[in-house]
Amino acid sequence: MTSIGIIGSGFGAIAVAVELKRSGHTDIRLWERSTDLGGVWRDNTYPGAGCDVPSPLYSFSYEPNPRWTRRYALQEEIHAYIRSVADKYGISPLVRFGAEVVAATWDEDSSTWSVRFDDETVETVDVLVSAVGQLSRPALPGIEGVDSFTGTSFHSAEWDHTFDATGKSIAVVGAGASAVQFIPHLARDASRLVVFQRSPNYLMPKPDKPYKPFHKTLFKFLPISQRIERGGIWAIMEQFARGLDAQSRVGRINGVIARRHLRKQVKDPSLQALLTPDYPIGCKRILFSNEFYPALAQDNVQVVPHRVTRVTPTGVVDADGVEHEVDAIIYATGFDSQDFLESIDITGVGGQKLATQWADGAHAYLGMYVPNFPNLFVTYGPNTNLGGGSVIYMLEAQARHMRQAVDRLEAGSYASVEVTQAAEQAYDQELSHKLDHSVWGSCDNWYRHPSGRITSNWPGATLPFAQATKVLEPTAFHWS
Ligand code: NAP
Repeated sequence: MTSIGIIGSGFGAIAVAVELKRSGHTDIRLWERSTDLGGVWRDNTYPGAGCDVPSPLYSFSYEPNPRWTRRYALQEEIHAYIRSVADKYGISPLVRFGAEVVAATWDEDSSTWSVRFDDETVETVDVLVSAVGQLSRPALPGIEGVDSFTGTSFHSAEWDHTFDATGKSIAVVGAGASAVQFIPHLARDASRLVVFQRSPNYLMPKPDKPYKPFHKTLFKFLPISQRIERGGIWAIMEQFARGLDAQSRVGRINGVIARRHLRKQVKDPSLQALLTPDYPIGCKRILFSNEFYPALAQDNVQVVPHRVTRVTPTGVVDADGVEHEVDAIIYATGFDSQDFLESIDITGVGGQKLATQWADGAHAYLGMYVPNFPNLFVTYGPNTNLGGGSVIYMLEAQARHMRQAVDRLEAGSYASVEVTQAAEQAYDQELSHKLDHSVWGSCDNWYRHPSGRITSNWPGATLPFAQATKVLEPTAFHWS
């Protein structure tokens, strides 16, 4: 029986564990550095945290949830959902908490991974699955003096719930997906809110609505109704993803909708101008909110169209050199998305380091398999993030492919599987060609490695990824 170790316990980890368990694999263990499972949905507890992908699609296909309270569920509900799936499929007891993986080394003689933890303990497994995600390490890019601030400060992913915003003057650094969700809440309580916006985003209306008892009853007793809703949302999101190109018709329509949303919600022409992006739509993640613009238009809110360069003991200094004195600073500056697995020291065949192999940006066959690293499967790996659509759909596709790899290892009594250099290179060439023609090259965004390579995103709709991963192609791998 193949032993499988999974790093993490977020959606990616649970997707793989459930898939393997459902197909009869039992030697599965998950290692979680924290004290609870859930990944980003455990960590991001800021006010208003939620998902801007509708919940019927932002859930496992085999585990619809008729109890969603609204179309766009909030963090607590999503976290409860992932926990309930882990419980239902018997995954929760397989998680070892407080277990931070610091290194993993491939042993060529035994064809196993030796996995080392921060407490110096070691476990050995046949197959190692990384499910550490792309957005789990909060980042404070290029801001000096962060530690010198004497007031309250924290990152949006590490929200300090003892902090009371009432009557405070607060600086919010960043205006991305997280900031858009919590700024309306802060704006209600703070006496003064200064939002440092390095670049504006395209923002679209969010077609959110609470599900009434009627919907819940329908979803429960006629599950096909929820499947139909999921299918409809999926079809719309596929068009949205295909339209992530400013030149496309859908892209142009999205641009019109976003500009109209801005004009409708913000009447002040100078604020409108500050909030109008100067790059093609789709290049940065398109955001959804009905409350963000009205919050920015409030009298107690100021938008500073500059980056923060420095923090002083009493405030922040913007790129124009102006100091803004505040009681608190909240960093909504995103994550070390290019880190991938760099925080873990991974050594493959012949002492090859993964960090070295990925020095110019991560790349992997189907986003999952890396030459020189046998029996290492990466979920939510390079080029599997989406500009539009549900990443859970992608994670399920990856899990199914990984399950096929484990099944074949066992069926053929193989000890290891390693993608061939040729297969990985051919895949990467085709992918790079598509990425070169994508909208993401036309502005700064977190999808790109400093080398210029777009390492985060999958180009286009999700169906082609599901098709590419549906059946494992044995000749793409060495089996030994
Ligand atoms: P983000 O979207 O990367 O936003 C970071 C923000 O910080 C950007 O506005 C960035 O400006 C700004 N910034 C960085 N350094 C700065 C500086 N020195 N001064 C001023 N501004 C600075 O990060 P996030 O909001 O945490 O979201 C990260 C990702 O998490 C999202 O893209 C999304 O994939 C995921 N997420 C998803 C949801 C959801 O609803 N599904 C919600 C939240 C997050 P620039 O734009 O100029 O870089």
